[in-house]
Amino acid sequence: MRKKTKSVIFLFFILAGVIIFLGSQSLALFGVGTTIAEKNESKVAAAPESVTEGSEKDTPAQIPAGPGIQEPFPGGSGGDGISGRHDDLVRRFSFLQSPIPGATVSTRDSHLPGAPRPYRNGIHEGLDYYSSFCGVPVNFGDSVYAAGEGVIYRIDHVYSEPAAPQRDEMLRQSIAAGNMPEAVLDKLRGRQVWIVHAYDVVTRYAHLHEVSEQLQVGDRVEAGTFIGTVGNSGTSSGAEGSQDGAHLHFEIRLGEGYLGEGMDPEAVRLLLQQILDR
Ligand SMILES: [Zn+2]
Repeated sequence: MRKKTKSVIFLFFILAGVIIFLGSQSLALFGVGTTIAEKNESKVAAAPESVTEGSEKDTPAQIPAGPGIQEPFPGGSGGDGISGRHDDLVRRFSFLQSPIPGATVSTRDSHLPGAPRPYRNGIHEGLDYYSSFCGVPVNFGDSVYAAGEGVIYRIDHVYSEPAAPQRDEMLRQSIAAGNMPEAVLDKLRGRQVWIVHAYDVVTRYAHLHEVSEQLQVGDRVEAGTFIGTVGNSGTSSGAEGSQDGAHLHFEIRLGEGYLGEGMDPEAVRLLLQQILDR
């Protein structure tokens, strides 16, 4: 009996040892399994991150929205003007500022967007800054600054002024034909800088004398970056080689439309004052 009991106890310890051994092995196996699973999970999780990093690097720099524009223009502009309620337009365009420090919106209706331009049988699409009408002197060669944060879309480093007879003939032919081609209008704006802002808002600066040598197409600018100087390029005075009639022609555009299109002078003046004269 005693020998049998010893054998049973011995067998028990052997079995217990085997069970403990197998148990520890299976725990280890579970442990290894968990580790592999964790590694697989982390690989799966890492994959989209690396894709995101790659796509972020490949995406060109976005133009951040100004404080006045937090969402896209719902209606946009289909050439019928930039539509929207007065307060909404003020809010959306208020990231812009005057391109000439201290200058205010002109006191003359003929300097506003929407004013008729009989000499070319057309409509004025921008705001003119002339001395005596905008609160500060505006002289030939005075500095012009970006109206808001954006990217240079056009900057005319190379420009040749059309001679007076060429300019007159160009105008005469366009008026006789009953339409003013965009190419002719572009010549009449002279040396220009265009800046694209958030949500494809574009500002144009025309009749410039010089443009900044430091800036190229694609360069980022801040509100207040120097972009060029006041001139009279593209005008009849410019064609004659004088410095008379120097002014800045400034447009705020969206798509085919311009701010102030289809509005009466009082409404345009108030709108532009609330956006730019701050
Ligand atoms: Zn103008």
